[in-house]
Amino acid sequence: MSQETIFTKIINREIPADIIYEDELSLAFRDINPQAPFHVLIIPKKKIATINDITEQDAPIVGHLYVVAAKIAKQQGFAEDGFRVVMNCNEHGGQTVFHIHLHMLAGKLMGWPPY
Ligand code: 5GP
Repeated sequence: MSQETIFTKIINREIPADIIYEDELSLAFRDINPQAPFHVLIIPKKKIATINDITEQDAPIVGHLYVVAAKIAKQQGFAEDGFRVVMNCNEHGGQTVFHIHLHMLAGKLMGWPPY
C-alpha cells in the first residue's frame, strides 16, 4: 500500500484531471465517474493510503480537507442546499484508490443509508 497511486500522478500533473482547487496541502478535482451532478475528490498532497494510516501528526492535513470542502461549497453555491462528503476505507468501505480522498457530492437530494 506504500506505492504511488493514480492520484500522485494527478498531483504531479503526469496525467490530466479537471482540477478545481489547489493549495499547499491539498488538491480537488472532478471524479472521472461522477455519482452526482457535482462530484469532486479532495485529496491531501501527502500520500496516506487509508483512514487506518492517519496519525496524530496528520490531523491538521485531514482537518484541512473539510475546510477545503466548505470553501468549495461556498464557491460553487452548494453551501445552503447542502452536500455530502464521504471517505471510504478498504474493501467494505468501497475504497479503490489507496490515497485518502474526501468525496464531495452535491447538486441532488442524497439518499440514506448509502447501500
Ligand atoms: P474510492 O472508491 O477509492 O472511494 O474512490 C475512488 C474514486 O476515484 C472513484 O470515484 C473513481 O471514479 C475515481 N477515479 C479513479 N481513477 C480516477 C482518475 O484517473 N481520475 C479521476 N478524476 N478520478 C478517478
